Amino acid sequence: MFDRTGLPKAVTVYEVGPRDGLQNEITIFSAHVKAQLIQRLLKAGLPAVEIASFVRPDLVPAMADAEEILAEMAPFLGAHRMVALVPNQRGLDRAISAGVREIAVFASATESFAQANLNNSVAGSLDLFGPVIRQARDAGLRVRGYVSMCFGDPWEGKVAAEQVVHVAERLFEDGIDELSLGDTIGVATPGDVIDLLSACDVRGISRSRLAVHFHDTYGQGLSNALTALQEGITTIDSSIAGLGGCPFAKSATGNLATEDLVWQLHGLGISTGVNFAELLETSHWLSETTGLKNRSKVSIALSRNMHDETGMVESQ
Ligand code: MG
Repeated sequence: MFDRTGLPKAVTVYEVGPRDGLQNEITIFSAHVKAQLIQRLLKAGLPAVEIASFVRPDLVPAMADAEEILAEMAPFLGAHRMVALVPNQRGLDRAISAGVREIAVFASATESFAQANLNNSVAGSLDLFGPVIRQARDAGLRVRGYVSMCFGDPWEGKVAAEQVVHVAERLFEDGIDELSLGDTIGVATPGDVIDLLSACDVRGISRSRLAVHFHDTYGQGLSNALTALQEGITTIDSSIAGLGGCPFAKSATGNLATEDLVWQLHGLGISTGVNFAELLETSHWLSETTGLKNRSKVSIALSRNMHDETGMVESQ
């Protein structure tokens, strides 16, 4: 028998689609389409949305429009939690100028991914983030940290929890408010989730300050999310339509889909503040507007056109 008494009453669904999702798709979309998506997500009740990335435009062309997105979202900034990724001091300066109230910094648990993604060592990147985090806090911004490759790495294989905890402790020392533990290539299974959260516990990192970020590459996303809930995690990252992936993961599928996560949470009687009908409408709008493949099983099952994921009309 499933015992639901240990589950939280409410969960924060942290939407990463407009940033993590679209950054990792091949097609590049206009700032206006992104802003429309963000507005729809907010209207559907998503309590936190990651909206832009202040990275170097020449290095990440898909995110070259951060200022444009912020300009379109300016009227909503005061009333909603909207987060922008910041890789360095220059990115922070741009984010503050654009009116951002919360930033995210992106650390890696492994040397290989730090080199590939940040062009730096783990220690070097943490040294770089420290002053950025402190300056953001001094400017009154909230700071979210990420650790990538928390469970496995395409070059290094299985990642020891101790490596993750080391990076997590350093980011909290530097002043982040919340940390998202990322299974960037989607290899974790529920036992791994329990092990990593236990390792965080041992070092005194409160679960109330942790979020989890799962990818569904191996079909473990929802199982891992449920396990995290049972372990007391109340913030879960997800991406509308399961957008995104990881450029370094072989045949990587996307982030855990928001529709699938919310379907599960509401089924468990857990409140999210999300209007599921509006979320679904946004999911279908996104697929139709962008042509991107919808990877949410729930969205596909509830498709208004009864199309399956290949675009073929189902025979019955
Ligand atoms: Mg992701």
